[in-house]
Amino acid sequence: MFWGGDADDDFEAARERMVEALVEAGRIERDSTIAALKAVPRHEFVPEARTNSAYADRPLPIGSNQTISAPHMVGAMCDLLDLDAGETVLEIGTGCGYHAAVTAEIVGDDNVYSVEYVPELAEDTRERLADLGYDIHVRVGDGHEGWPEHAPYDAAYLTCAAPELPEAVVDQLRVGGRIVAPLGTARQTLVKAVKTEDGLDRESHGAVRFVPMQGGDS
Ligand code: SAH
Repeated sequence: MFWGGDADDDFEAARERMVEALVEAGRIERDSTIAALKAVPRHEFVPEARTNSAYADRPLPIGSNQTISAPHMVGAMCDLLDLDAGETVLEIGTGCGYHAAVTAEIVGDDNVYSVEYVPELAEDTRERLADLGYDIHVRVGDGHEGWPEHAPYDAAYLTCAAPELPEAVVDQLRVGGRIVAPLGTARQTLVKAVKTEDGLDRESHGAVRFVPMQGGDS
């Protein structure tokens, strides 16, 4: 497979091909999403034994019974959130930090706040993100409570599935703010909601499969 070329160049070429295939398949559309997926070195976020699969468009195990989402899912969620540079974003479920890094490429890395339930994951990921030069804020906690200190957010998303949108996270959105989340237990649907003066405008975006959200009342 490798003809003596530099491994990083090979990874970059594989990443470019993967992203172009997602564009051609119509799975991602916005220029900022495309650029962000091309910029983030996904192979740095997966366990070493998996680096050769880093640019296949599928989820991969990352330890602690968790998975890194497939690139098309990360891209689709960025597209749905209509993220713009300079916006402040709350992520629930940091995992290995890949999705947060893609978001940071769009909005600016000082603008991403991420809450992770599993302390070891949060610790490893904080270190990984710092090594890669991403200044993303990671906190250990239960995402059901959001991260009130930095509210209001322009956008928020969950990378774990909840039965319903966590109330605190919705409260921490500004009016006009957007949220995207996999909702449901046995079956999950990707839901986008926009906060209005008197509630939420919701729309569904198809069946998905994410790890269940822990903590809360469950
Ligand atoms: N975005 C991640 C994917 C994470 S998988 C990535 O790109 O790698 C979902 C993550 O949600 C897991 O890390 C899991 O530990 C976390 N999680 C589950 N319940 C949570 C909760 N109540 N609060 C915060 N994080 C939670």
